[in-house]
Amino acid sequence: MTSRRAGEKPPVRRQRRLLVVSYRLPFRLEEGKLAQNAGGLVSALFAYARAHGSQSDPGGFEELVWIGASTNSAAELASAEREADMPRVRLVPVTIPPRLDRQFYEGCSNDLIWPLFHSFPDLADFRATNYEAYQKANALFCRLVEKEARDGDVIWVHDYHLLLLPGMLRQALPAAAIGLFLHIPFPSFEIFRLIPRTWRVALLEGMLGAHLVGFHTQDYATHFLEAVSRCLDGATDQMVVDSVHGRSRVGAFPIGIDAREFELERNTAAVQQCRDDIRRAIGDHRLMFSVDRLDYTKGLLQRLLAYEEFLERFPRWLGEIVFNMVVIPSRDTIPRYQKMKKEIESTVGRINGLYSTLDWRPIVYQYRSIPRAELIALYDMADIGLITPMRDGMNLVAKEFVACQPPHRSGVLILSEMTGAAAELREALLINPNDRSEIADAIATALLMSDEQRRSTWTRLRDRVFANDVFTWAEEFLDGVYSARSGTAVPTATGISPAGFRKMREAYRKAAQRVILLDYDGTLVPFHRIPSEAVPDDRVRQVLSHLAADTANQLAIVSGRSTQFLERWFGKEPVTLFAEHGAFRRHPGGDWQQLQADDKHWKNAVIACMRQIWKRSPGAAIEEKATAVVWHYRDMEPVSAKQRTADLERALHELLNDNSDLQIVRGDRIVEVRPKKFSKMHAAREFIGTPPPPFILAIGDDRTDEDLFAAVPPPGYTVKVGNGPTRAAMSVTNPGQVLALLEGLISPASMDPEAIHGAHRGADRI
Ligand code: UDP
Repeated sequence: MTSRRAGEKPPVRRQRRLLVVSYRLPFRLEEGKLAQNAGGLVSALFAYARAHGSQSDPGGFEELVWIGASTNSAAELASAEREADMPRVRLVPVTIPPRLDRQFYEGCSNDLIWPLFHSFPDLADFRATNYEAYQKANALFCRLVEKEARDGDVIWVHDYHLLLLPGMLRQALPAAAIGLFLHIPFPSFEIFRLIPRTWRVALLEGMLGAHLVGFHTQDYATHFLEAVSRCLDGATDQMVVDSVHGRSRVGAFPIGIDAREFELERNTAAVQQCRDDIRRAIGDHRLMFSVDRLDYTKGLLQRLLAYEEFLERFPRWLGEIVFNMVVIPSRDTIPRYQKMKKEIESTVGRINGLYSTLDWRPIVYQYRSIPRAELIALYDMADIGLITPMRDGMNLVAKEFVACQPPHRSGVLILSEMTGAAAELREALLINPNDRSEIADAIATALLMSDEQRRSTWTRLRDRVFANDVFTWAEEFLDGVYSARSGTAVPTATGISPAGFRKMREAYRKAAQRVILLDYDGTLVPFHRIPSEAVPDDRVRQVLSHLAADTANQLAIVSGRSTQFLERWFGKEPVTLFAEHGAFRRHPGGDWQQLQADDKHWKNAVIACMRQIWKRSPGAAIEEKATAVVWHYRDMEPVSAKQRTADLERALHELLNDNSDLQIVRGDRIVEVRPKKFSKMHAAREFIGTPPPPFILAIGDDRTDEDLFAAVPPPGYTVKVGNGPTRAAMSVTNPGQVLALLEGLISPASMDPEAIHGAHRGADRI
C-alpha cells in the first residue's frame, strides 16, 4: 500500500491521535478477515487508513482510532486488525440498539437527509420520531468519542448521519480540534428550508461545532453559507462563520482516490487474469461500463433509457457495443429500492429482448459486488465510462475509471454534470442526466473520437486525478482543521472556565466596592421579534435586587433603550439607568438628566434617508429616539436585509459625509445614527469614577457594548454574550447564562459551572 511518496510535499508533523468518526466502520469480518464495506467514503478513507496503518512515517498520527457502527465485537476486530498488519489503526465498534438504529439510520439519515440533500424532496420523510432518534444516536456517538478522546486529539467526523455530533463534541471536548466532512451535496436553500425550522437550525449549529466544515465543491459550501446566513444569528464572512460555538471555517476539499495504487494494481497478475476472462466473454465488441450502488440518485433507469435511445438512433453500433452495467446491492430490503431494482431489471430485459441477436446482447447486467481485480480490469478495458447520476456528492467511480485507463488506448469518460466530480473533471463529456438525447449523442461522439483526441483529454483528466489524490485531500483537510482551530482563538472571547469563574467570585467577595455595568437587550433578556415585548422577568428582577441589596455594589443598566422603557421596567429598582447609550442618566429614585445638550436638526434628514430604503424593505422599522435614529432589520428576510442594510449604510455615509459629530453604529440587527459624544464608554467611565473600585464587571452583547468594555480598566472583568469578535475577555452564550453568572457571584453556595457553560447553548435565541 502506498503512502505519501518520496520527493513529494513532506507530511505535516503530527504527534497526535486522529479520531475518525463515521456511521459505519470501513470494515467487517468475513471468515475472520477484514473486508471493505461498499461506498465512496469507505473507499477513500480505507486507502488513507491502510496507508497510515502500515507506514512507519513519524509524521503521521500517533494512532488512528476509527469509531463507527459494526456488527462485530471489539475483540473480533482487534484480532483481524493484527492480521491485517495495521499496527497504528484501532477500530472501536459502536453498538446502536436496533430500533434506534432503524429510526436514525434508515429513517432520518436515509429517508430525510439523503433525499433532501440530493434534491429529491418528494422522497423525504419528515417523521419527528426519526429526528428524535437522530439526536439520540448522535448523542450516543458523542459519549463514545468522549470516552476515547484524549487532550490534543484531532476528531474528524464524517457525513450526513452525524451532523449534530460536532456541536455536541465542541461542548463536551473544548480542547479538541474538530473537523466535519460532508460526503454528499449540500442543497440549495430552497430545498434546505423544507426541513422544519428547529431541526434545520439544530443541524446547522451542529455542523458548526466543527472548526472546519468541508464539502466536495465550492457550490455546496456556498449553499451551506447561504443556509447559515438565512437560518442562524451567526455572522458569515467569506468562508468564516461565527456561531453559538465560536468561529468555524468552511471550505471545498474535493475528495480523491489512491490513484497510484489503482495504477499499480492494473499490472498485477490477478487483474491480467480478469482482463483475459472479460476479453473472452465480450470478444472484440466495444465495451461501455458503469458501476454504482443501487440508489435513485444514480440515475440507473434513466441511463438505460438513454442507451436505448442511442441504440435506436445510431443503429450502426448494433452488434458492436456491449454495455456492462454493474449495480452493487444496497438497501434492497427496502420496498422503494426493491421496486427500483425490479424496474431496472425489467428495462434491461426489455432492451435486450428488443435488440439481442444470437451472438450479441446489448446489455450485460450484474447485480452484485465485484472483486477489486475485476473492477480494475473493467475500468482498464472500457472504451467508455458512462457515469450519469442524477445527483452525487463526488462520484469516485469517475476518478477510478480515469486512473485505470491504459495510456496507449485511453477511453472516454461521459460524466453527469450533477456530480461533484464534474467540477474537477471538466474535460470529460459532460451531460445532463435528464437529457436522454444528449447522453445518446455523447455515446456516439465517444465512439467516434480519434485516438489523439481521447489521449489528450485523458492525459489532462489523469493529471488532475493523480494530483488531487486521497492523501492530498486528507492532508489538506486536516491541515485546515489545525489552522481553523488555532484561528478561532484570535478575535473572540473565551468562555468562562470553572476555575475562571471561581477567581472572579473570589475577587468579588474580597472587594469592598464594586461596579457592575449591564447592557439590557441580548444581555439580561433575549431578543424578541417585537422589542416592546422583550421585558424583564422575575428572575432578572430578583438578581438585580439581590445585587443592589449589597451596599458595596454600584449597579447600572447601560442600554440603548429609551428613558420611558427603562423607567417603566426598572424605575423602582435600586439601579442607575443609562438610556440611549448614555445620553440620559437616572439615579435610583431620581429624575432623568440629559448628560449633554443635543442638536436635533440632523434627525429629519436621517429619517428621510432611511424611509427611502424602508419602502423596499419589508420587515424593517425605523425608531426615533430622543438622541438617535435606529434602523431595525431583525424581522427582514436575511438576504435582502443584508443588501438593504448595506444600501442604507452607503446612503447614510453619503448623507453624513461632512458631519463629523455623528456616528453610524451597527448593533445586533440594527444600525443606529447618533452623536459621537454619546456612547456607552462615556457613561461607563463616569459611573466607574476615579480611582476605579477593585471589582468591575461589564456584560454586553453587541457592538455598542464594545464601548462599555473599553471603559473597564484592568483588572476588571468583561463578558460578551454570544460569539464573534470582541474586546471582552470572557464570553457566555445567552442571557440565561448571564443570570446564572450573576446568581453565582451572590450565592453563598458554590455554584455549578455547568449552569454557565450551559447544556443548551442558544436556548434563549429567538
Ligand atoms: N465499489 C465497491 N464495491 C464494488 C464496486 C465498487 O465498494 O463492488 C466502490 C468503487 O470502487 C467506488 C465506490 O464503491 O470507490 C463508489 O463510490 P462513489 O463515490 O462512486 O459512490 P457512492 O457509493 O459513495 O455513492
